[in-house]
Amino acid sequence: MIVECAADADPRSVQRLVDHLQSRGKPVHWVHGPQPVLICPDERDLDPRELQAWPGVRRVIPVRHAFQLAARDYRPEGTQIRVGEVRIGGGDPIFIAGPCAVESRSQLLETAHAVREAGAHLLRAGAFKPRTSPYSFQGLGFEGLELLAEARAETGLPVVTEVMAPEEAPLVAEVADVLQVGARNMQNFSLLKAVARQPKPVLLKRGMSATIEEWLLAAEYVMAYGNFNVILCERGIRTFERMTRNTLDINAVPVAKRLSHLPVLVDPSHGTGDAAYVIPVARAAIAAGADGLLVEVHIRPEEAWSDGSQSLTPEAFARMVREVRAVSRALRMIQ
Ligand code: PEP
Ligand code: MN
Repeated sequence: MIVECAADADPRSVQRLVDHLQSRGKPVHWVHGPQPVLICPDERDLDPRELQAWPGVRRVIPVRHAFQLAARDYRPEGTQIRVGEVRIGGGDPIFIAGPCAVESRSQLLETAHAVREAGAHLLRAGAFKPRTSPYSFQGLGFEGLELLAEARAETGLPVVTEVMAPEEAPLVAEVADVLQVGARNMQNFSLLKAVARQPKPVLLKRGMSATIEEWLLAAEYVMAYGNFNVILCERGIRTFERMTRNTLDINAVPVAKRLSHLPVLVDPSHGTGDAAYVIPVARAAIAAGADGLLVEVHIRPEEAWSDGSQSLTPEAFARMVREVRAVSRALRMIQ
């Protein structure tokens, strides 16, 4: 159960309510978000009308899921997340594009200009890369962040980049407009708490073996520790199939949209692992209800230091944007 207090509620009366619930043996989690919110995961024997009558209480919302703040019950109208001028979850498909990794100044700037021309709303590239092998390129680190800041200054595109270590979250947040938590870190709870304690929105990728409930509980962590601006991203799960790198779980799109109010993006690049399949899967994602796409684009995919085989050329990305917009228009006509 969610007990939402008024933004100006007297902290002493919120504390009295916490004490009251605890005296009844109910665990309570006090969320210090945009307004004080109390989470009572065990709602048995709690009467919403009684709680509603407490001073400072604005709304009492029963929730039937383990995740509470991430549940659609909390915001049935859906959540829009603003990044600069861009609204993610506002109805128009959002395109987040860029190379897997920042490799060099010229590579990043050329790609940034190319994706902006093709219709990208946000630029994404990794400065810190989670690589399976310790011998693979690990990213340019802080130098990569500086190049991202330069690319934003040149193109005006807000930037998304991955953060891997909790202690680096404040520094990455100084540059990034959105912090990505990668699939491998979806259940790194220290990292989730760290990204909750900084002000930028968080793009949370689904773990490759995570259930949808675990993914939504990871989003819940970020919200429960104070950051309500979470964007979900389905990026494919591991199955027995070997013809593609992952199996994009298209089901996850309508399921997550139904269970949660948070915007849902799809990453068809990691979802397929092959540039040949990215465009059809991108079209399918939007048809299934995704709020946007996260796509890897490289000026010369064959020369990429990571994930070249799944990266689109700028020309292919421009085609993808046209085709996805056509799907989105068609959907509006039939809905
Ligand atoms: C990436 O976005 O480049 C990446 C490493 O993705 P994921 O965490 O989904 O594997
Ligand atoms: Mn990648």
